[in-house]
Amino acid sequence: MNSLYLNKVFKSFGKTKVLNNINLELNENELLVILGPSGCGKSTLLRLVAGLEDLTSGEIYLHDKRIDKLEPKDRNVAMVFQNYSLYPHMTVEKNLGFPLKIAKVKKEVIKEKVEAIAEMLGLTDRLLFKPSALSGGQRQRVALGRAIIRKPDIFLLDEPLSNLDADLRLKMRAEIVRIQQELEITTIHVTHDQAEALSMADRILLLNDGEIEQLGTPEELYKNPNSLFVAKFIGFPKMNIIEATIKNNQLMPFGIPFESKQIDGVDELLVGIRPEDISMISNGQYRAKVVSSEYYGEQYIITIVYNNIVLQVSGCQHSKNIGDTVMFSISESTLHFFNKQTGSRIG
Ligand code: ADP
Ligand code: MG
Repeated sequence: MNSLYLNKVFKSFGKTKVLNNINLELNENELLVILGPSGCGKSTLLRLVAGLEDLTSGEIYLHDKRIDKLEPKDRNVAMVFQNYSLYPHMTVEKNLGFPLKIAKVKKEVIKEKVEAIAEMLGLTDRLLFKPSALSGGQRQRVALGRAIIRKPDIFLLDEPLSNLDADLRLKMRAEIVRIQQELEITTIHVTHDQAEALSMADRILLLNDGEIEQLGTPEELYKNPNSLFVAKFIGFPKMNIIEATIKNNQLMPFGIPFESKQIDGVDELLVGIRPEDISMISNGQYRAKVVSSEYYGEQYIITIVYNNIVLQVSGCQHSKNIGDTVMFSISESTLHFFNKQTGSRIG
């Protein structure tokens, strides 16, 4: 059984088309990450599922029940926003228990559930504190706890980590995955951060200007981006994209043998090379000049120029001096090809 199902969902605000034919099926207990640049429609998609916006057309089903005409409170959906708004005058205990109190759950049961969720989120010793006495991460956990305490059918998280500092953001990524697995709740997590998406998702849905650009596992999007947009959006440093031509069955400017029938009908070709797929080795095939060397602790990222083409190389263990000559190799099997006109993947 699928858990959430979106069928031909369109959304416009006045004349502005924001979501264009979104079709999506979530598996039971899946963690789907919706990824995309600012303004591409991520929040709107979540708000449609939560019932905070009306569809322009299409259907939304949750566990085979049509929900798109239901009031938000009748959908059994929980949503956490970026600026998680806790009740400042209530203790953590009261904040966590609030949704149950509203639902007129018995006091003893509320107490039990609050204690269980506090335990799970590491908030037990904070139950009697007000939000102002908590760290950013603790507040975020209270907001998560408050959202899941009623065991929703689906958990919607709209950039919940973007207000946290870098350290905490990394910790909370793992924390959300852990909570989601422990509670077995189908979850949609929204972010514009590709690293966050790669590290958390069962599957990633990459949105581009209101349309699904690609839907797949993190590995699929990373290894087989089906368009130039996906290739450029996923991965750090970004994939090197180079204009290429085929001359005498060779891929230029690298001189790699290439069957031109692979690209029949494509006039202009772009080649993508991941920065980690370039090896700087002394017996490399190609000669380049170093233009910069950046230190990242575990690696250097070195920028080189070959034939007027700028390439970034990652995973380097040693620094290079600007102006140094280096040799490098690329392996044909790691190259990605795109149609320059349409941006779609070739092969
Ligand atoms: P994201 O969350 O990916 O940054 P949003 O879903 O918030 O994107 O917004 C997508 C587009 O829809 C934007 O161009 C935004 O300006 C527009 N939009 C969102 N909400 C409204 C609204 N209530 N009225 C008009 N336009 C809106
Ligand atoms: Mg948003």
